Amino acid sequence: MTTPLLRMTGLRRDYPAGAGLVTVLKDVDLEIEAGEFVAIVGASGSGKSTLMNILGCLDRPSAGTYFVDGRPTDKLTSDELAALRRERFGFIFQRYHLLSDLSALGNAEVPAIYAGGDPAARRERAEALLARLGLGDRLRHRPGQLSGGQQQRVSIARALVNGGAVILADEPTGALDKASGEEVMRILARLNAEGHTIILVTHDATVAAHARRLIEISDGIILSDRRTSGRIPMGGTLADPGPRPTSPWRALAGRFGEALRMALIAMKAQRMRTLLTMLGIIIGIASVVSVVGLGKGAREQVMAQISELGANTIDIFPGRDFGDPDAASIESLTEADAAALSRESYVDSVTPNVSRAVTARHRNIVAASTVSGVGADYFHVRGLRLAAGRLFDSDASRTTAQVAVIDTKARAALFPGRVDPLGKTILLDMLPVRVIGVLKPATAEFGSSPTIYVPYGTAAVRLVGKTDLDSITVRVNTDVSSRAAQEAITRLLTRRHRFKDFSIFNSDQFRKAISSASQTLTLLISGVAVISLLVGGIGVMNIMLVSVTERTPEIGVRMAVGARQSDILQQFLIEAVLVCVIGGAIGVLLALAIGPLLNLMGGGFRVAYSLPSILFAFACSTGIGVLFGFLPARNAARLDPVEALARD
Ligand code: ADP
Ligand code: MG
Repeated sequence: MTTPLLRMTGLRRDYPAGAGLVTVLKDVDLEIEAGEFVAIVGASGSGKSTLMNILGCLDRPSAGTYFVDGRPTDKLTSDELAALRRERFGFIFQRYHLLSDLSALGNAEVPAIYAGGDPAARRERAEALLARLGLGDRLRHRPGQLSGGQQQRVSIARALVNGGAVILADEPTGALDKASGEEVMRILARLNAEGHTIILVTHDATVAAHARRLIEISDGIILSDRRTSGRIPMGGTLADPGPRPTSPWRALAGRFGEALRMALIAMKAQRMRTLLTMLGIIIGIASVVSVVGLGKGAREQVMAQISELGANTIDIFPGRDFGDPDAASIESLTEADAAALSRESYVDSVTPNVSRAVTARHRNIVAASTVSGVGADYFHVRGLRLAAGRLFDSDASRTTAQVAVIDTKARAALFPGRVDPLGKTILLDMLPVRVIGVLKPATAEFGSSPTIYVPYGTAAVRLVGKTDLDSITVRVNTDVSSRAAQEAITRLLTRRHRFKDFSIFNSDQFRKAISSASQTLTLLISGVAVISLLVGGIGVMNIMLVSVTERTPEIGVRMAVGARQSDILQQFLIEAVLVCVIGGAIGVLLALAIGPLLNLMGGGFRVAYSLPSILFAFACSTGIGVLFGFLPARNAARLDPVEALARD
């Protein structure tokens, strides 16, 4: 004797009900041979659908064993059960359970996609099946555009696309008018004649009359089981097993493509919701990118200004602290200090500095200016460049030469129009000096009055009339740490003055402080932006959870036709990631638009976009999609197929 196609022994199915259990199937023993046409009849609630679901490997028995082809199914994993559903069974439901977003052709194709069939072959086969079922001119119609009978025929095509050796039809005519119902029954009879095993659930005696074997079930117990036709089953020779699977990689790509397509369809179907969900991500990404850009821009700007203080310079001022009220009366900072400093090994160059307000005059033009007596190295130390003429040398100070270098403000004030200042003589109060150089404009203007630079000696002897200095600027050797230099200077001057009556401004330390402060600030604001991204991600998760709940019946159908858990997971994960990636792309574009807009508005904002920050934001949005999409997607994948199907 051959092994029966399907066999159940001592099968029981319990459902939890309240505190205890309700037993829906009680010790069912059943054998079905290949090629049979079985009708299961019984009152509503007698357990027909429960039996059917176990037969189709959608549900598992609570006790007893179910064999398919002599192989027990109780040890099979959910993916192996999915494979059985895909390859052996074809479901036909009372309410068709078609996917409303797909055309007739798309619906008929779904099981073949999960089976990994060659795309062209599966399309051809689905088309041929639909044509055979009289739907050749309805391939592109959506389920909503088809009559009940037509929808049921689409679902028959879907059941057959992978071969459908065993067709399980749960009340297939229940929702149909008489004529359509009869048509469906004719099709099933024809399929049986072609070798398909048909198992049918019905409560309609005329429908059951098509079958060759009648199983009557009541309260989970088989009451009677009799053959109504003498015909011997055909023995399960089924001509067409459906499209052969292609290579595993192409099958994987096909399933990914399907998941991607379904995700896009779902997003399009809920445009408004998708957009609003995306908005959270868009705002998050746009703020991360532009805040980081703004922070970087501001830092670069500040750095550029600081670099005009000169590289690695240290300024020494009289007075114990900045703003020391006695500073004006402290006269201990002298040229001798500057000379002593210049002999130190860590010092590159030193310039003394005195300055005073003067009235500068050229012909009849008068300008309130600052005159600054400086050493020859001053311009080098400060990073000031000549626009025209030359600088004075170190001899000029010794000989108290009456020469001057003027800045752009002084030039503008004293030499309006196209007058060339070089060689012209200007009066500083009563002292005539000859202009020998004009400086380039400095980007950072510290102090706003026009400045005229004269040799230190000239200023000290002829203009200021005092021997103490307003400041000393030291340029430190590049191989010496500015902190060490600052400490050495402090020690030296404290020894010379006997106590610390001076203060020190270290441009390098200042630069570092500013840099670290602005970095901290950027980090802080970025943190806030990242939090907004996180909020966006939670929004994505929320919507995905809603979406899973909404599409639970769809998930049930996909599982019934053989989708693996990973297929379902993939579909929802892709949707979440797509929302985030598209949102991220829009966010980046938005951020790139904000920069020029800010520039247009003025206010001195400068946005410096950095590619790493954009890539980071993009990676962030993808990561958020995966992170926050995973939970809803896993919920979807873990749904029980029967429960999912029942939720309608
Ligand atoms: P039929 O298809 O014959 O009308 P079913 O197999 O659908 O009957 O259901 C048989 C019995 O099992 C019914 O009493 C029903 O209430 C119960 N039942 C079905 N599914 C569940 C479930 N998921 N949880 C609890 N009880 C269920
Ligand atoms: Mg039922």
